[in-house]
Amino acid sequence: MTSNASAPLSAGAPWIVMKFGGTSVATLPRWQNIRELVASRRAEGARVLVVVSALTGITDALKQLCAQEDKSKRIEAAKMIAQRHYDLLDHMQLAVPDTLAVRLTELARLAEEGPAVLGELAWSALMQAHGELMSSALGAAFLSHSGLPTQWVDARDCLAAVALPNQNERTKLLSAMVEAKPDPALNTRLAKLGEVFITQGFIARESQGRTVLLGRGGSDTSASYFGALLKAQRVEIWTDVAGMFTANPRQVPGARLLQKLDYEEAQEIASTGAKVLHPRCLSPLREPRVPMLIKDTNRPELEGTVIGPEVREHAPSVKAISARKGITLVSMESVGMWQQVGFLADVFAQFKQHGLSVDLISSAETNVTVSLDPTENLLDSDAVAALASDLAKVCRVKVIAPCAAITLAGRGMRSMLHTLSGVLAEFGQLRVHLISQSSNNLNLTFVVDESVVDDLIPRLHEMLIAAGALRTDDSALFGPSWQSLYGSGEVVAAGDAWWRTESRDRLLQLGAEATPRYVYHMPTVRQQARNLKTLAAVDRLHYAVKANTHPAILRALAEEGFGFECVSPGELKAVMAAVPESAPLLFTPNFAPREDYAWAFGTRATVSLDSLYPLEHWGEVFRGREIVLRVDLGRGLGHHEKVRTGGSGSKFGLPVDQIDTFLRLADTHSVTVRGLHAHLGSGILDDKHWGEVYGQLASLAERIGSVAFLDIGGGLGVPSHPGEARLDVAALDEVLRKVKAAYPHYKLWMEPGRYLVADAGVLLTRVTQQKGKGSWRYLGVDTGMNSLIRPALYDAWHEIVNLTRLDEPATALYQVVGPICESGDVIGSDRRLPEAKEGDVVLIAQAGAYGKVMSSPYNLRDEAEEIILD
Ligand code: ADP
Ligand code: ASP
Ligand code: MG
Repeated sequence: MTSNASAPLSAGAPWIVMKFGGTSVATLPRWQNIRELVASRRAEGARVLVVVSALTGITDALKQLCAQEDKSKRIEAAKMIAQRHYDLLDHMQLAVPDTLAVRLTELARLAEEGPAVLGELAWSALMQAHGELMSSALGAAFLSHSGLPTQWVDARDCLAAVALPNQNERTKLLSAMVEAKPDPALNTRLAKLGEVFITQGFIARESQGRTVLLGRGGSDTSASYFGALLKAQRVEIWTDVAGMFTANPRQVPGARLLQKLDYEEAQEIASTGAKVLHPRCLSPLREPRVPMLIKDTNRPELEGTVIGPEVREHAPSVKAISARKGITLVSMESVGMWQQVGFLADVFAQFKQHGLSVDLISSAETNVTVSLDPTENLLDSDAVAALASDLAKVCRVKVIAPCAAITLAGRGMRSMLHTLSGVLAEFGQLRVHLISQSSNNLNLTFVVDESVVDDLIPRLHEMLIAAGALRTDDSALFGPSWQSLYGSGEVVAAGDAWWRTESRDRLLQLGAEATPRYVYHMPTVRQQARNLKTLAAVDRLHYAVKANTHPAILRALAEEGFGFECVSPGELKAVMAAVPESAPLLFTPNFAPREDYAWAFGTRATVSLDSLYPLEHWGEVFRGREIVLRVDLGRGLGHHEKVRTGGSGSKFGLPVDQIDTFLRLADTHSVTVRGLHAHLGSGILDDKHWGEVYGQLASLAERIGSVAFLDIGGGLGVPSHPGEARLDVAALDEVLRKVKAAYPHYKLWMEPGRYLVADAGVLLTRVTQQKGKGSWRYLGVDTGMNSLIRPALYDAWHEIVNLTRLDEPATALYQVVGPICESGDVIGSDRRLPEAKEGDVVLIAQAGAYGKVMSSPYNLRDEAEEIILD
């Protein structure tokens, strides 16, 4: 055992504070990790103070218990809470230690007694404190029993809450603060007692001796207080995620790890909504300059985030996007108030009186709007109502709730405003109640209706961090994505593309003969097709041929058992010419002319409709037919605004609220709705998405009655960077199998496109010229947006390599551009490549989908040829 092997510590040995959050202390395997981690810190020659949260869910359970008026229900709830601890001890094969038994008895007594004796707030604080008192008692027993003698310390004997002028009783007891100056006496007192200690997060004691809380999530702050009191070498926050990410990784799996932050930046991200750190936990560390580390208890090998005093110099950039829900806005209107001396003072006096702290402010000639943040205010509707009624005496008041504040955080926000036009456009479609740019130049905050936030955050992340990151070499700023660290799917390895290995010489030869040339690798098409064929839950797969209509690809996919989805008569004809009569066909046009439908009914294709108009105006074309109805489920998804095909901002699909009208029209013309279809967008890597679509379509189908199959669209993403996780096909199958089990009477159809062909195709082009402009270097190649429009249209990132010099070091930073007379003719920005020469063969990867099919004769340059490699 590591600790026993270590030499005894001197009185002056440094301290390391290790805080473990709720999920980190809830199971035996986590405690085994904690034991190893603590032992390894002790072996570094440090005294260790472990700070623990309550077992996950216990603080919530205690809060609920406190809200319960019925005594017998309170007693019952206390028993359930005790049981959680007994269960964990059982797993640990430990008897209930006396230290825990005492807590459990006290909890039961307090539950029975109720708030009458101590007063509501003090009683509630003491009850909730038991979560941490119990978990720390349990932890002390486990660690000591596993050979690491551990002293239990009552945090309330070390952390003294300070009285602040603007506190009311509620904030004093439930959201207290501690002044944590280095305390050598505490250091000496503890050093005499031992080497490893455990104490509680979340709690402190005020001057009258009552137990107080530091606010929800406050255990992080306890760790920092201890870090400051003991002037620790560092404070380590151990949680369920390996650090602070550019957004909440549970919401944005592509969020990137922020490996290094300074106190100010981290503070900004934490206080604007990143729950991984409590908003108050950084300020105690600043003065003593104690660094903080954030790590994953379950994956200690991952690097994590280091927060320290050093400010890193880099260009202004958005480092993180965070959101806070539950924001209340108070809008105050009064004619000409701006000129009235003391108006604002009067208004703010009211906020002070009601104990409410204001967060954001915006003002105009006749209006002042402020936001109230629930984390700082312990908001309840009574407090806001009382404030509103008092304010109504001096101005017209409107309370707007629930709102959410979305914050873009990073150094130098002001100098970035001009780059945020896309973001402003995204907000433009929504109701933005307030915009605020912080005076420290570290954040820009938008307050919107709460309901839009969940959808908006991934889109903003894509636009500001993912898309930007894809275009430049960003590894200095951002670490790996959460998905690549934790994704269950197989991760794309650098260097495993077909064109790097066996086909390279052939490609160089093809490139030397003529360019531009598209080259398609048929084994890759077949491999992707076979991956999808393993989806046992799917009854029929249709290839969305718009991605690539080359006859060899159509034939190969027909041989692999695919049907075909076509959006125009031209595509239907191409398929019918290339593949056998038996392959199923879907015709899913959008805003097509009347004659297209009439013609398609003459083929074997299943026809889909996505608006009322055709039935309203051309009913006879559809009379007696069976059709598929494409619906809009009200939201779109995908890697770029222009590939999202759902929601009011997109022209596709019949809105759900028009389905009844559609069905009436269908009835009038004896049209039967046999299938329902939805396709929300492209480039989706989250397997759960299609399960949700199936579930939604199935519940609509139940209302309709005649439906036999549900087509859940395509959009299966293809990762483009090494280290990104591939779509996990087995997990997708599991998701679909589960949701299908709930509605077994429908056949399940899908229509993937890009997934099948993107990786199979490359575009070969040759270097024409180079140009330097200031510090910029342009590398010209002989084709551009005329052959591959995706970078210009979707900001798509395509890997670009100099195939001639694949093994040479990448020493130049190039903007790779084509010969088209458009500024947008940029295939890749900021690409690190070997120093190039005229005639070098350059390969643009992942060009098998939406490449040749979207090419144009613009500028009358030669079209790229297509070559098949079998
Ligand atoms: P603990 O119980 O260990 O204190 P929390 O649940 O309080 O853990 O905080 C960890 C969680 O914070 C993560 O699981 C994650 O969902 C959430 N989170 C929100 N924003 C971020 C972010 N920007 N980076 C990392 N985690 C975040
Ligand atoms: N147990 C407390 C809470 O759930 C404090 C913490 O975990 O940080 O809010
Ligand atoms: Mg926490």
